[in-house]
Amino acid sequence: MSLTNTPPTAELQALDAAHHMHPFTANGALGAKGARIITRAEGVRLTDSEGVELIDGMAGLWCVNIGYGRAELAEAAARQMRELPFYNTFFQTSHVPALTLAAKLAELAPGDLNHVFFAGSGSEANDTNIRMVRQYWALKGQPQRRTIIARRNGYHGSTMGGGSLGGMAAMHAQGGMPIPDIVHIDQPYWWGEGGDMTPEDFGLDRAHQLEAKILELGPENVAAFIAEPVQGAGGVIIPPDSYWPEVQRIVDEYGILLIADEVITGFGRLGHWFGSQSYGIRPDIMTIAKGLSSGYQPIGGSIVCDAIANTIAQDEFNHGYTYSGHPVAAAVALENLRILDEDAIITRVHDATAPHLAQAWARLADHPLVGEAVSRGLMASLALTPDKTRRAHFAAEPGTAGYICREYSFGNNLIMRHVGDRMIIAPPLVISHSDIDEIILRATRTLDQTLAHLHREGLMSAQ
Ligand SMILES: *Cc1c(COP(=O)(O)O)cnc(C)c1O
Repeated sequence: MSLTNTPPTAELQALDAAHHMHPFTANGALGAKGARIITRAEGVRLTDSEGVELIDGMAGLWCVNIGYGRAELAEAAARQMRELPFYNTFFQTSHVPALTLAAKLAELAPGDLNHVFFAGSGSEANDTNIRMVRQYWALKGQPQRRTIIARRNGYHGSTMGGGSLGGMAAMHAQGGMPIPDIVHIDQPYWWGEGGDMTPEDFGLDRAHQLEAKILELGPENVAAFIAEPVQGAGGVIIPPDSYWPEVQRIVDEYGILLIADEVITGFGRLGHWFGSQSYGIRPDIMTIAKGLSSGYQPIGGSIVCDAIANTIAQDEFNHGYTYSGHPVAAAVALENLRILDEDAIITRVHDATAPHLAQAWARLADHPLVGEAVSRGLMASLALTPDKTRRAHFAAEPGTAGYICREYSFGNNLIMRHVGDRMIIAPPLVISHSDIDEIILRATRTLDQTLAHLHREGLMSAQ
């Protein structure tokens, strides 16, 4: 079957339904409905098999930071495939793309994060992190320091390790997660869980849960704390400003390693190279993936501080992936980093695009259906609510209103995702002001349609 001479959509959908198992999907229901087939993309716009053009408010899956259609990346891949399509880095060998990318990441990363262990994805990198921090403590003569503290509603991937670090209840309900010695504390989600506290008090309160958990477990048993600077898949949950400084104080005080999962917040999403810089935190390890290659190739990794890397180096680390530092993926990532840098894309996010989005997005909070409209960098979210004065949740099953809203959004040719009853966007970092305005226009129409629909169906009652 030729992919350039595209067959009718119904035919593609039938093949998809018959043979393709989609991630995080009820495949029976999708098969009956038919998946939307995306065929092309350019800049911030997707085209489907019916020729419909959509604004991609999600940068693919939070990853296409430099936008679609950059031929330089295709050329970098082709060049590398001709020269050296694959070689491993296991048996005392290296290759130019992997070592050059490692050096470049060491230069970009803050502090003494000078060493990179490559993986094929964010999930794999977090699996590496679990084993690396435990091996680090074992080599330091503290093998009992095994427990990793993470957060409810955090997302760290979908492998057994990544899914266990994550705090997604729906994931833990299937397949035997979490694995042992991973425990969870609550998230700093003020709008949803903050009650009568001010955001600042609530941020401190949630940080203090970390301290309480460390003391409960015994600091001598805790290896690390892992968190996303801003929770992405959990619903773009932006912590109160009081949260991160207090977390940093606590991990410093008890000598606990800090792992910042920068898979979304890395590579410019928050207006700095890394979200840790945006929040002034000093992680010992950063997880990276997604924006590292702008999604043009699957690649992830862990950027590791001197102390951990030097300790791990004392012995053989019995861990790695066939595709650790894959030369084609590394070459594409290098080209992506060059473009982010030379086109000053991150500076533009910081100085221009993020402030523009912040201002425009915040106005959505005036809509009767919206409880909060928040953004940081180019990540933004809305809380849908039946009663904004009480920050109330819907009486209907969580996600009902969000799903309806998502359907209207797709109908308006805007890819906006829902997480429960939160609506989220994270567009390519190259988005223009006028395309941001277009997103706001389509989101507003979507909210109007959703509100009318919820009224019509009697779904506006509060819990
Ligand atoms: C997407 C994501 C991951 C997992 O990355 P994959 O490449 O899907 O394995 C891990 N952490 C965070 C914060 C993510 O958003």
